[in-house]
Amino acid sequence: MIINTMNKYEILKKYFGYDTFRHAQETLIDSIMEGKDTLGIMPTGAGKSLCYQIPALLMEGITLVISPLISLMKDQVGSLNQAGIHAAFLNSSLTAAQYFKALGFARQGRYPIIYVAPERLVTEEFLDFALHSNIVMVAVDEAHCVSQWGQDFRPSYLKIMEFVEKLPRRPVISAFTATATKEVRDDIIDILQLRSPTVITTGFDRSNLYFGVMTVKDRYGAMKNYLDTHREDSGIIYCLTRKHVEDVCGRLAEEGFAVTRYHAGLSDEERKKNQDDFIYDRKQIMVATNAFGMGIDKSNVRFVLHYGMPKNLESYYQEAGRAGRDGEPAQCILYYSGQDVITNQMFIDNNQDNQELDEMTRAIVRERDGERLRKMTFYCFTNDCLRDYILKYFGEYGSNYCGNCSNCLTQFEEADVTDIAKGLLGCVKASRQRYGTTVIVDTVHGADTAKIRNYRMKENPYYGVLAKVPVYRLRQVLNYLQLREYLYITADEYAVVKLTEKSEEVLKEGKQIVMKLAREAPKAEKDSPLKAKKAKKNSFGRESFTDMEESLFEKLRVLRAEIAREEKVPPYIVFSDKTLTHMCMVKPQTKEKMLTVSGVGEYKFEKYGKRFIECIKRAGVYG
Ligand code: ADP
Ligand code: MG
Ligand code: ZN
Repeated sequence: MIINTMNKYEILKKYFGYDTFRHAQETLIDSIMEGKDTLGIMPTGAGKSLCYQIPALLMEGITLVISPLISLMKDQVGSLNQAGIHAAFLNSSLTAAQYFKALGFARQGRYPIIYVAPERLVTEEFLDFALHSNIVMVAVDEAHCVSQWGQDFRPSYLKIMEFVEKLPRRPVISAFTATATKEVRDDIIDILQLRSPTVITTGFDRSNLYFGVMTVKDRYGAMKNYLDTHREDSGIIYCLTRKHVEDVCGRLAEEGFAVTRYHAGLSDEERKKNQDDFIYDRKQIMVATNAFGMGIDKSNVRFVLHYGMPKNLESYYQEAGRAGRDGEPAQCILYYSGQDVITNQMFIDNNQDNQELDEMTRAIVRERDGERLRKMTFYCFTNDCLRDYILKYFGEYGSNYCGNCSNCLTQFEEADVTDIAKGLLGCVKASRQRYGTTVIVDTVHGADTAKIRNYRMKENPYYGVLAKVPVYRLRQVLNYLQLREYLYITADEYAVVKLTEKSEEVLKEGKQIVMKLAREAPKAEKDSPLKAKKAKKNSFGRESFTDMEESLFEKLRVLRAEIAREEKVPPYIVFSDKTLTHMCMVKPQTKEKMLTVSGVGEYKFEKYGKRFIECIKRAGVYG
């Protein structure tokens, strides 16, 4: 295959079917082509693969891509082969015979791109091949795996340099990751021994993702409502515990949803089968614990719902980030309940990972985890832009208004809640900072519960002073006071409300407390993600489809599923949702027109173009 007479734009168009490079891709490609070591830090879905695949096709010689997981390699090699590019993977999923056959083809120079598991690199057979071949680049994907600071450290990644040192000529080294803390970045540069590398970092933001928080009594019901209005979409529901996974999955199955499940309590075979059912679109919905997701590159995940709040924003953003890899609008909604804080606190207290740490370090870790949990909890309470909250947490500047999160889409008004704040703080003080939120709220509200009687709260001077304020509003203000550090809640199992230095500003110094409150009903009840979907344009600038287009999309999707079955690849590898979306807008009836669709390259056109054109003609819609 001689493609290195083409330039990068021609390759982008012909093989990948795209007209333009995305932000940063071109810079990274150019850097590699100049022979410089290169590190690209870009969020999920930004298109890191192209940054090493295109140079690999432009260079004379072989590019080795190091990837941590078999599923990722399979996915990428599948995509490349579908695009008409020869690529192979060498990992433990191959039998010995298959492995030697692939290695044989590799020796003949059949593959410009070879994916290889890091532990294979220094084996005898592989080294023998490498020493007698022209390896021009080693591309390290998911490069954060070299760092012990990261969440997914892979000791075998440390073998990469050992391997490179054995080569007769040092290839260009490129590395890519979505995880960008300073420690991890420094580790990548040090451990991979990058030589004055070009380092490109793009922001963390994923503008196609809608973020929402819902605090409702019946969260299963709320979630089911969402699913009812998104019947066609594929998505993930994350739960905190295995038990929740079983419950939610069971109930949804009974209600006729195509669901499957994943957690550490299932056998290996069942996990693999369920994962495949999801990836191949045989089951639309995956209900899972956080054990699911590493190595899932499925590009058409349209929603990630959290049935319960994760333990920190790092986990939340990673899990939510599995939505919308194709860049099309996708939704991330967290269904919060107060119980989640207690469950997570229990996980922190019983953390088995830290057994080998000494008592003091363990205390520090526990405190750090508690702090992270608090920040996560605040995310569920804040009335400010959720995207902004996330970006700030990761040390970036957002804008105060993104227009694509549940807070930005809720109408707020400023309300003076000083009197409520005074009542709550006063009650905490008068009861000598000994009780949790429920007791405090019930006291000022004047409730007559067993606890109130036991603790003799009726004798508290603040008993019933805010009887006219609804309980949900009292809770909102209490949360707000916590968010702004006018009070705090202890991180132990008792969760006692305590005063802070700032409390006195309100109690004594007459500080005014003004907070944003949703205009009509509390935001939880009226917040409709459906509205959000409409509010967000697709990446081709269109807000909604006509009924005709909607039905064409379904037909194209059916055709895609049929082809995927024939080719034995997941549907999104035949064409992404994004490509089908664009196809519905362009409605191409000729080859020329079809090639203008984003994601339709010449090779894929030759293979399936006619069938899609026929499908469009049969549907009788005109572009
Ligand atoms: P990452 O590894 O950064 O998470 P991928 O390389 O898997 O992202 O790419 C995500 C999606 O974006 C893929 O479907 C890919 O085909 C698409 N993509 C990449 N580059 C472009 C581009 N220049 N134009 C349009 N789509 C692109
Ligand atoms: Mg990737
Ligand atoms: Zn916002």
